[in-house]
Amino acid sequence: MCKFLLELFMAKPATGNTQISSTEEPQVTATTTGGTVSIDIHSGSTNSDTDTPPVVDGGGNDNTITEQPNMERIEIQKRIKEFADEMRAGKARKVNQVAVHCSATKEGKAYTVSDIDAWHKARGFTKQKISGRYCGYHFVVALDGTIMCGRDLREIGAHVSGYNSNSVGVCYIGGLDANGKAKDTRTPAQKESMAWLIAELKHILNISKVQGHRDYSPDKNGNGIIESFEWIKDCPCFNAIPEYKNL
Ligand SMILES: [Zn+2]
Repeated sequence: MCKFLLELFMAKPATGNTQISSTEEPQVTATTTGGTVSIDIHSGSTNSDTDTPPVVDGGGNDNTITEQPNMERIEIQKRIKEFADEMRAGKARKVNQVAVHCSATKEGKAYTVSDIDAWHKARGFTKQKISGRYCGYHFVVALDGTIMCGRDLREIGAHVSGYNSNSVGVCYIGGLDANGKAKDTRTPAQKESMAWLIAELKHILNISKVQGHRDYSPDKNGNGIIESFEWIKDCPCFNAIPEYKNL
């Protein structure tokens, strides 16, 4: 792609900082962190594997958000491409789907991948060798649209039971209203960043299947559609299938 197009593509939305750090999605089970209680709206599984030292965002603090919009997107794109090359060369795991999650935290609470890292560490997730993360997700999208890196794409995530080995986990911060009920709390910046990120994943990795965590629930009546009464969890609190179908 020529430079001009690339820059256009990378252009940032109105608000936003993009950022790189780490990800994870705790399949939280009533965890209290920083005054917020995350209820269990996930059903993920703990799976681990992989390796390496902290690459970006050393992790640890709350609100460690970097602001380098375009550079960060370019860096994220580069990482996805590198992974794609390794995958196609048979040197990395093969992925064929993206699972979308929410962090199951209350609307407006600006948690970061570092927070998720701490939560998942507390839950006993394994520290990954490449990324240095405990976070079960590969990407976490902050309220301001910043895209934070969690596990390295080469590392198997811990976010969706039975599908961790062949999926990429993307999580946005939020998913609960002030009372702790499931709600699509995505900010415009989050929506834009998620659409950008998922489009990149789909195109670079040649993925067509993108669905929400809840869509992995069993199809009890066998009609081929995972309906709301069949959801094990509400995560990610919006219908990801049509939203990302035509990216
Ligand atoms: Zn989830």
